Amino acid sequence: MEPVTIVGAGLAGLCCARELVKHGVPVTVLEKSDGVGGRVRTDRVNGFLLDRGFQVLLTAYAECRRNLDYDALDLQCFYPGAMVRFDGKWHRISDPWRHPLDGVKSLATPIGSVVDKLRVGSLRSEVGAATVEQLFEHPEISTLDYLHRRNFSAAMIDRFFRPFFGGIFLEKELRTSSRMFEFLFKMFSEGDTAIPAGGIDAIPQQLAAGLPEGTIRLNSLVESMDELKAGTVVFATESGGIGPVPVTSGRGVRCVYFAADKAPLGEPVLVLNGDGRGPVNNFCEESSIAGSYAPAGAVLLSASVLAGDTPTLNLEAAVTAQLRVWFGPQVNRWQHLRTYTIPYAQPEQAPPALSPAQRSVRVRKGVYACGDWLDNASLNGAMVSGRRAAEAVLEDAG
Ligand SMILES: Cc1cc2nc3c(=O)[nH]c(=O)nc-3n(C[C@H](O)[C@H](O)[C@H](O)COP(=O)(O)OP(=O)(O)OC[C@H]3O[C@@H](n4cnc5c(N)ncnc54)[C@H](O)[C@@H]3O)c2cc1C
Repeated sequence: MEPVTIVGAGLAGLCCARELVKHGVPVTVLEKSDGVGGRVRTDRVNGFLLDRGFQVLLTAYAECRRNLDYDALDLQCFYPGAMVRFDGKWHRISDPWRHPLDGVKSLATPIGSVVDKLRVGSLRSEVGAATVEQLFEHPEISTLDYLHRRNFSAAMIDRFFRPFFGGIFLEKELRTSSRMFEFLFKMFSEGDTAIPAGGIDAIPQQLAAGLPEGTIRLNSLVESMDELKAGTVVFATESGGIGPVPVTSGRGVRCVYFAADKAPLGEPVLVLNGDGRGPVNNFCEESSIAGSYAPAGAVLLSASVLAGDTPTLNLEAAVTAQLRVWFGPQVNRWQHLRTYTIPYAQPEQAPPALSPAQRSVRVRKGVYACGDWLDNASLNGAMVSGRRAAEAVLEDAG
């Protein structure tokens, strides 16, 4: 078969390349930046692993299981649940199926009523009984409407669902598609939430290592279709810009990293802002999840600020002030390491973005596209789209 040129070495482009190579197709991947991974990159700064934005792998993602060697990634898992800051106190919310004792204690917290927690149980059984394909066929409404229809209380929505799924959707209005909500709820229930010991970029590095040497050409910006030699092209770019890929609107996030000598909670748990006040939506002691994220004797902390909540003045000062209220004067000893501003982290996924759940990867004869915007905004969605594009190329080539 004719060689295929793939533009973009994010997860979609890498998975497309792997699938084609598996079928003996010669492939070249052109990537404009200095590394593979696209939105999944890690910087190494004085012994700290700084992911470019807080990001996690849900081990239940089927396409990730299919493509990745989890053992080699040395996955480090979060406590299944969250620690919610509400009304000046900490409240532990646990997954009662995995931590029955903590789960019983969660019933008494002000983060939703006992009835809310029973409703979480029935939601869990329903999404557990359905396949992922079936979930993506359910009627599509906003997540907020969906939670209202399921009669969750305002307390449960505002103190748990809004910060938890806000941190995943990167928007707190919960306007994101209910199809995505059900899919992610199923993934959280059926597997672990994890980061690789070597940084989140260990994921694309592992994918790239499976390609023949010389396949990927870094620092190779493709500015127009005309630059590409005749032959099959797959655009695996994030949104808009070149070729036939439409401009899709997206959501941004900011991630502020601190170094400290001591972890304030010392637990591998996601910390949520249940009050809704202040810029920080979610907080994580990265090195309490994976010790390898910080050098010996130090801890790494991250605070995520959703795009709409960015203070106009000094972001780091506003974040530090909020965290001082949460953790006390020890915050004065923390050292700000770096702030990442990611204007386009995920494509917008408000309804009808996921109707249909998968958009065509065929653009026109010889031109294909892949990327999370064609499936859904996740590591899994990006990988699926890459495989679908490769399958289309192979099918059309007979
Ligand atoms: C901060 C953040 C947090 C996230 N959290 C999670 C999470 O917790 N769990 C989860 O499942 N998902 C999460 N995601 C989403 C997930 O990372 C993305 O959905 C996925 O990585 C998208 O992969 P992609 O290959 O479609 O696109 P990209 O990773 O954007 O890849 C596109 C590639 O194309 C290259 N490119 C673009 N234009 C050109 C050009 N003209 N010439 C050459 N190359 C070009 C880019 O440099 C890039 O490498 C998060 C994303 C971010 C940014």
